[in-house]
Amino acid sequence: MAYRTVPSLRFDERKMERPRVPRTEELEFGGPTGISLLTVGMPALGLYLLLTCNTKSASVLEGPGPAPSLQSLWNPIAMALVLGWVALQVGLHLLPIGEPHLGVTLSNNTRLRYKINAFLVFNLSAILAGFAVLGKVPFQYVADHYVEFASASALLSMVLGVFLYIKSLSAPDHALAARGNSGIPLYDFFFGRELNPRIGSFDLKYFFDLQLVNASWGMILLCLLVRDITAHGSSCHALVLVSGFQAFYILDSLWYQEMILTTMGFVHHGFGFALAFRDLCWVPFIHSLQVYYLVRHPYELKTSAAIGIIILNAVGYTIYRESNTMKHAFRLDPTDPHLARYRIQTIQSTSGRRLFLGGWWRVVRHPNYLGDIIMALAWSLPCGFNHLLPYFYFVYLTIFLAYRAAKDEQRCLRKYGQAWQEYCRRVPYKIFPCIY
Ligand code: NDP
Repeated sequence: MAYRTVPSLRFDERKMERPRVPRTEELEFGGPTGISLLTVGMPALGLYLLLTCNTKSASVLEGPGPAPSLQSLWNPIAMALVLGWVALQVGLHLLPIGEPHLGVTLSNNTRLRYKINAFLVFNLSAILAGFAVLGKVPFQYVADHYVEFASASALLSMVLGVFLYIKSLSAPDHALAARGNSGIPLYDFFFGRELNPRIGSFDLKYFFDLQLVNASWGMILLCLLVRDITAHGSSCHALVLVSGFQAFYILDSLWYQEMILTTMGFVHHGFGFALAFRDLCWVPFIHSLQVYYLVRHPYELKTSAAIGIIILNAVGYTIYRESNTMKHAFRLDPTDPHLARYRIQTIQSTSGRRLFLGGWWRVVRHPNYLGDIIMALAWSLPCGFNHLLPYFYFVYLTIFLAYRAAKDEQRCLRKYGQAWQEYCRRVPYKIFPCIY
């Protein structure tokens, strides 16, 4: 089965001019200067957090002390293992397993076909990892050389970013991403010039942004857990709780894997360095910072606190899952009978597309972000209140999603015009009811 583009609706290329993606006019983060700072600053911030975690005081204000030498960050074994891990995941993805799914309609009126198999591949990876644990493979090596593994992954993301940019130079105009088509190389390298880069039928964005990122995050959790058990004989409840929450989040993303095809990130954002760095380094090593922190700084959690935190995570998850599921179902088929329970109302826009109001989308305009942020808080609280460091992910995600919501709304206002204004009037808050 080939996973290529298929025509959507009736589109006669001979009669119509090939669509062009407009040049990116509005530059984010202050343009090339801000983007240069982010390209260097994000890996530097990650390094700062991990090194600070390694210190006894774990104080973000004191920091980790003198900057490490580049030599101390380079570990050829770590690089070889990271490359081997990516190669294994590529091999598993290529197995003849999975279901074909169509993506959304693209600017040239075609739809890409995807081989959706991330959940199956994750399970296969988990079985292989299980055998490796039984075979006493020293997973703790990753936890003991965590910073070196993160550095190797960051370096690889830089190489991937350069490859993606060079590859995008031969992409047709209609295949470019609206956000990374400024004509400024550094800017387009960062945001990704090509929307859906592929090698043959191998979709790089699907592979990295769904399969690899989740498998790597899961693998890091396993390595940290093995490290903790090897060092202490068992793991503290806080660590088990946070890694359980995160493993559940990973499995959930993979279980609902086809939903990624209709998310804003997947539909509108190109694949460049920012996403490559996020998928290879930031998510696996920084989203799991609380677990890494607990390996170094164990914390005894009271049972009553643990119950409260589990309830908080369940509330966040319910909002996150229900809102994402409703949006996805509406996008696929607004007449889907399963949507009846949300009592959806719609606002017609002049472009023909309809905005929906229903379920959690009646409470705030980005309920899926609200759910994600609540869960982020639930992942930090088990670390106690001794340090700020484990709260980094919660603070970062809140800022990141608030920025994303603001940007998304600018785009939605341009796209839906008065209908979006009417939606904002009827649902006045973006993420936090009565606050923002
Ligand atoms: P969404 O999936 O929420 O997509 C936003 C888009 O949905 C809008 O651009 C618009 O798209 C459409 N839309 C929004 N409201 C309406 C409405 N009322 N009616 C009709 N269409 C609407 O965005 P993301 O991709 O950012 O988020 C997906 C999930 O991923 C979220 O749960 C988020 O929390 C999570 N996420 C997590 C991150 C992390 O680091 N943990 C990072 C990024 C996302 P259109 O113009 O195409 O109609």
